[in-house]
Amino acid sequence: METDLLDVVVIGAGPSGTVAAKLLHDQGLNVEVVEAATFPRFVIGESLLPQCNMILREAGLYDVVAKNADALGFQRKNGAAFEWAGQYSEIDFREKFSNGDGETWQVRRGDFDKCLADEVERSGVAIHYGHRVTGYSRTGSITRLSAADNQGNERSMRAKFVVDGSGYGRVLPRLLSLDEPSDLPSRKACFTHVEDHITAGHFDREKILVSIHPDNRDVWFWLIPFADGRASIGVVGESHLLGEGTPAEILRRQVGQVENLSQLLANAKWDSDTRTLESYSTNISSLYGDGYCVLGNAGEFLDPVFSSGVTIAMKSASLAASAIKRELAGTTVDWEKDFEASLLQGVKAFKTYVMGWYDGRFQDVIFYRNDHIHAQKITTMISSILAGYAWDLDNPFVKNSERKLNTTAEIVRATR
Ligand SMILES: Cc1cc2nc3c(=O)[nH]c(=O)nc-3n(C[C@H](O)[C@H](O)[C@H](O)COP(=O)(O)OP(=O)(O)OC[C@H]3O[C@@H](n4cnc5c(N)ncnc54)[C@H](O)[C@@H]3O)c2cc1C
Repeated sequence: METDLLDVVVIGAGPSGTVAAKLLHDQGLNVEVVEAATFPRFVIGESLLPQCNMILREAGLYDVVAKNADALGFQRKNGAAFEWAGQYSEIDFREKFSNGDGETWQVRRGDFDKCLADEVERSGVAIHYGHRVTGYSRTGSITRLSAADNQGNERSMRAKFVVDGSGYGRVLPRLLSLDEPSDLPSRKACFTHVEDHITAGHFDREKILVSIHPDNRDVWFWLIPFADGRASIGVVGESHLLGEGTPAEILRRQVGQVENLSQLLANAKWDSDTRTLESYSTNISSLYGDGYCVLGNAGEFLDPVFSSGVTIAMKSASLAASAIKRELAGTTVDWEKDFEASLLQGVKAFKTYVMGWYDGRFQDVIFYRNDHIHAQKITTMISSILAGYAWDLDNPFVKNSERKLNTTAEIVRATR
């Protein structure tokens, strides 16, 4: 079956795809989405950053999330807490340098992504679920995408522009050979959902808790509570540091080595499958080309430590939608400047802190509590980045991220 010529086809109905589709539809373009799975489906990535709220608002999708948050068990989130061998530190996103929301949610992504996708469909965008894109060709100014359902039935779609929001599917990077190795080491994550029964210990349900292994600062854990007494728990590290065993064995063994986590989860019911992902950091030679662009995880994915994935995915959708609108209206678009460089500016800031996390500089800064740091408003600038405002060039910790992190880490190390 072949459809009429569309303005845009979006591959994937994750956050990058649905935000892009909604923004393009609102601009009057004729858009359809093709999605391999049927929803709800599981995806990891449950802790949002407040910057997401701003983009959801821009796309007219904030209200539907806010309205359904309680019913779907979304947990209010106002910051991040860090724990390492008895040291505890909190970053409150409401005390931040940049303008914008200081709170957001922690969400089961199956429900969150479905909530967005349903609203996008209600607004008038067709989403073709259960169709996996397998082919791409471009002739002149028209792209043809082929997709197949589970029964092998083919669907062919024609569009002036294709947006790839296929996440870990990485459709266009694979079909167009755009994949590049990440310069981050390969790490592995093992994760599950539990009925947490957390009653004792220091735990603020409105913050993600990031715990660091007492003997190995390269290994860290997330504990992401939902509002209905359940939580997501995961461990991340290089495979050889996590050791042998099934994902469930690795996760339970590693959690057992962290006193604070063991106490918090002492009464937890481990009632769900443990999943694993490995070598998830990715890179790409270019995020755009003739008649296409690549969003979110289908492009570059860094590391889960600061929960930046969905934020970057939504930001890429926002930048792309504005460029596509201009391009289809006949304006020449500088994709390098307006899309790729603009997006990567924030990604670069996140990356500085990811690198600094694993080499210890940023962990030292996070656990350092000192008036000097507070007096310089450094904490609020760091809070801004961790809240996702990594594109705010007024923040020196964004604009000169490497230099500011180095200087701050040096001060911390000299005065410890
Ligand atoms: C261990 C780990 C923990 C993480 N934790 C967090 C976190 O706490 N917070 C956070 O913000 N991010 C987190 N992330 C990152 C997060 O998972 C992603 O950044 C986010 O899901 C990206 O959104 P997306 O829209 O680009 O892709 P996705 O959400 O992956 O959506 C892509 C969609 O495309 C569909 N698709 C795939 N292939 C095809 C095809 N061939 N044809 C049609 N459709 C296709 C898929 O079915 C899917 O629905 C984490 C990542 C990892 C690895």
